[in-house]
Amino acid sequence: MNKTRTSGEAGASDRVLIIGGGLGGLSAAIHLRLAGFEVTIYEAHERVGGRANLIVQDGFRFDTGPSLLNYPWVFEELFRAAGRSMGDYVRLLPVDPSIRFLWPDGASFLLSSNLHRLRDECNRIEPGSAAGLMSFLADAEVKYNFSFQKLVRQNVDNPVAWFSALTPREMLRSSVWRSLYGELGRFFRSSRIREALGSYAMYLGGSPWSLPGLFSILPYGELAYGLWLPEGGIYGLVEAMARLADELGVRTLTRQRVRRIVTQDGRATGIELADGTQVHAPIIVSNVDVPTTHEELLERKTGGRRIAMTPGVITFYWGIRGRVDGLSHHTIFLPNDFKDTFSDLLKRKRIPENLPFYISVPSDTDSSLAPPGDTTAFALVPTPRPSELGPIDWAAAAAAIRQKILDRLRAHGVALDPGRIVFERVWTPDVWGRTFGLYDGSAFGASHSLFQLGPFRSRNYDRRIRGLYYVGASTTPGTGLPLVVLGGQMTAQRILDHVR
Ligand SMILES: Cc1cc2nc3c(=O)[nH]c(=O)nc-3n(C[C@H](O)[C@H](O)[C@H](O)COP(=O)(O)OP(=O)(O)OC[C@H]3O[C@@H](n4cnc5c(N)ncnc54)[C@H](O)[C@@H]3O)c2cc1C
Repeated sequence: MNKTRTSGEAGASDRVLIIGGGLGGLSAAIHLRLAGFEVTIYEAHERVGGRANLIVQDGFRFDTGPSLLNYPWVFEELFRAAGRSMGDYVRLLPVDPSIRFLWPDGASFLLSSNLHRLRDECNRIEPGSAAGLMSFLADAEVKYNFSFQKLVRQNVDNPVAWFSALTPREMLRSSVWRSLYGELGRFFRSSRIREALGSYAMYLGGSPWSLPGLFSILPYGELAYGLWLPEGGIYGLVEAMARLADELGVRTLTRQRVRRIVTQDGRATGIELADGTQVHAPIIVSNVDVPTTHEELLERKTGGRRIAMTPGVITFYWGIRGRVDGLSHHTIFLPNDFKDTFSDLLKRKRIPENLPFYISVPSDTDSSLAPPGDTTAFALVPTPRPSELGPIDWAAAAAAIRQKILDRLRAHGVALDPGRIVFERVWTPDVWGRTFGLYDGSAFGASHSLFQLGPFRSRNYDRRIRGLYYVGASTTPGTGLPLVVLGGQMTAQRILDHVR
């Protein structure tokens, strides 16, 4: 994986076409290039990054999707694989304290990677819980380490082989039979702490009551490795990865929509662009959501529907004149009845009555993201997916949601006069879906229930079409910037295992 060949050395059999320049696509491109392949990315949009995209307007610079970076070691490893140091490409700014959780009754919980501060905060909410915190961290550290070493990063198709990589002790500790909420309950009695640490479930397509306890590694990973904002916002990291790919000789063609994957006798032979041009290569990697690839690029009508997807989101991008007192980098507003909110979202398939949402203010960490003295803010509200909601007047729904957000801010003493919002853009789930090919407007790709993890998840190669591979949030190992970047390496390894 660490041998670099120039394009001149690559033969026809070493050509790879990647459909989509999301972070998974970029990572796969970098690893394949390092392995000597001649790689071209075809990106439909005007720039790479996918969901991690950019809106620039009137001096405000918004990241469209991700607002926090976790597991920086994954990105450092990527640059190191190319013999580079990430610090020469992008600087990461710490976001600490990282996340403030707020409830309607005014209760709050502040996360921090500073252990003393976190211990005090746990004790404040649940007197005596510092001991539980220490046991939680010790337990989740072991889980995190064996998960990344033995489960997450492995291209294993056989469930028995996958699980048997664990020792019996690790198997016991994995808590896959227990819910995340139950797992957190082993360490904390406070429902507030459990709700906060379990709130990640929302982005994984489940609830803390349905997802496996192994996912306690998520809050642990954020506490242990910190939360970060690349300088220039998340897109600063995308630019760094795009520059690395370019330096290595990856060709990136933007505004090039692929309309079809060309196949012959059960083999992928190339792609067809929107203007009808065909480009041929023996290896095709799709960074487009797996079910979208099936239905739109392969015209395969079955299969996709069986993949359970994560919810949609409605996102607001606000350029605000002046500062907003009371809002730091990342604030998550949780409802009173947390369980019922998940039932609205996942079972009753309606926009929750008591909205959970978060507001990110990246200009609080990197002031260059807004004009001097002003504020760049982003609000995210999870919603069911368009097919679940049925016909909906999004303009009216967005206006109602916006009002609820502003009311909730006011209730917490955050004065945000709407007249100060001098720039606004709103992306509804159908906009997200249309813009990036997200299946049914699902924001985070395929869900992460136990039966959509590891060998149970859509594989990173097509079982029916030789030469066709997948990378990104809907295939292994899963969603989120670090995981799709690890996924790029796994897809590259899969290709090497098949062709060499
Ligand atoms: C609102 C939101 C907030 C998030 N917050 C976080 C966060 O804070 N931290 C975090 O780690 N993760 C977060 N995520 C998740 C993270 O953004 C994704 O998991 C990750 O970016 C997905 O990358 P991907 O490789 O699947 O590619 P995608 O981002 O899905 O990119 C796919 C690319 O393919 C292109 N494409 C699609 N169809 C075609 C076609 N026919 N031809 C050519 N190109 C095509 C698209 O334009 C796009 O550029 C968030 C996601 C969203 C939506």
